[in-house]
Amino acid sequence: MNALFENDSGLSLLNRIDPRYRPVWEHKSEKDQQALALYFLPHRSAKPVLGPTRPRILKWYCPFACQKVFASGHRYCINVYTGCEHQCVYCYAAGYEPENANPKKSFEKLLCKDMEDLETFDVPPAPVHLSNSTDPFQPMEERFGHTKFALEQILQYRHRFTTVTVLTKNPLRAVQSDYVELFRKLAAAPAGQNGHPGLVVEVSLAFLQETARKVYDPGAPSVLERMQGIRLLRAAGIPVVMRIDPLFPRSPITESKTMVDFGLPEAQTIEDLKTLLAFAKENGVHHIVYSVGKLVPPRYRPLPEVMQKMKKVYETVAAPERLVWQGGSYRLPYPIANEKITAPFLKLCEDHNLAAKFCKQNLINTP
Ligand code: SF4
Repeated sequence: MNALFENDSGLSLLNRIDPRYRPVWEHKSEKDQQALALYFLPHRSAKPVLGPTRPRILKWYCPFACQKVFASGHRYCINVYTGCEHQCVYCYAAGYEPENANPKKSFEKLLCKDMEDLETFDVPPAPVHLSNSTDPFQPMEERFGHTKFALEQILQYRHRFTTVTVLTKNPLRAVQSDYVELFRKLAAAPAGQNGHPGLVVEVSLAFLQETARKVYDPGAPSVLERMQGIRLLRAAGIPVVMRIDPLFPRSPITESKTMVDFGLPEAQTIEDLKTLLAFAKENGVHHIVYSVGKLVPPRYRPLPEVMQKMKKVYETVAAPERLVWQGGSYRLPYPIANEKITAPFLKLCEDHNLAAKFCKQNLINTP
């Protein structure tokens, strides 16, 4: 046994991996198992059970999820900032991120250290995602440029990453020339994995009407700005995935009630969805990502007022069944969500000849 894999009590580091994360290690070569253990596990810890909890900027994709439930595998996430200025009322990251958005202390220095560690431990390549808990192109990117720095680092260590996924609601910032140059280089090397581009920009555009956008995504760019950003990214040859995510219930909610009766604007009518999909098709979007909205109470705060109203909509849609509480959020029971929200949406995607992927599947399938 390699000495690095034994702690003072002689207990093997690999034998101490928390069973929730063990599937990521299984079926890898001994060399890769060691590399992953050294990169992700707190290898000087005396704890009997270890999770991928080393403090890092280039992190284990989802530090909470059991691989049996969410098989994210070996992949990284760089949450470029802490919190998010866009303040979407449905944001699942609000359940664990602070209310105020901020840059990370020593971001550049710590990211460089992580990149050097990938080399030192010879960690095999894996996908990297920017970002699952913040928007890399929120307004503060203008001041701090941490996303640009992260993309430059990924480019420098490109052989350590299979694919790069950048997710944003602000494609107009992403399409500025210095970012586009980086995207082009990142997309080109190495050649895409299994037909998947080396880089994709995922743009979240779930609502067509500004009235809805202002209520659900209050701090994010307008619908027209996002559409223009997508057009320009595509014109620059950057692969774009469009996220119509979250999907919310559509009127009529009952025979006599619409969203307006609950004090909410219509989130997405069928006509809105058709227009968004036609726009995606016209602009050569790679595929669509969707999921039904979850109602997530923010950390230490009650549900925002808009989401309290949405909860009443959900309860009405679900009746006589009750909402499901799972993973820190309220959800519609799956068969109801599928029948009333997802299935008609998937039919529209099919009519527009657009591939649609459920968000979890989209992630797991990103090679
Ligand atoms: S842009 Fe994304 S991370 Fe930011 S608040 Fe909205 S959903 Fe959350």
